[in-house]
Amino acid sequence: MLPIKELRKKLLAQRRELFHAVAQIEDELLWLETDVESEMVERAQDETFIRLLARLDDRQKAEIEEIDRAFVRIESGDYGRCEVCKKPIPLARLEALPAAAACLPCAQAREKTST
Ligand SMILES: [Zn+2]
Repeated sequence: MLPIKELRKKLLAQRRELFHAVAQIEDELLWLETDVESEMVERAQDETFIRLLARLDDRQKAEIEEIDRAFVRIESGDYGRCEVCKKPIPLARLEALPAAAACLPCAQAREKTST
């Protein structure tokens, strides 16, 4: 069994950190301190969220998207399974990279073909 709760916490922390990096004014920082977890979906329409999102660069945006896809997989029960070969992703990899959607060999193979 995967420690989903722990991994979920890591994902949330990563997501928050990314937004923290671009938060500048007080109400944006306050917004980040409130519980994002329970209201994530509604918050996607939030003015502050949209403002923060606009300041992220492409790499940061891609990271947020990866994290959000990981949340979707947690909800659907697919989390921790490689999206390429469908085998379980080793826990050590998930702990180092909780948003990983593929096992290391598959991720490396994909990198090779895309470059
Ligand atoms: Zn794989």
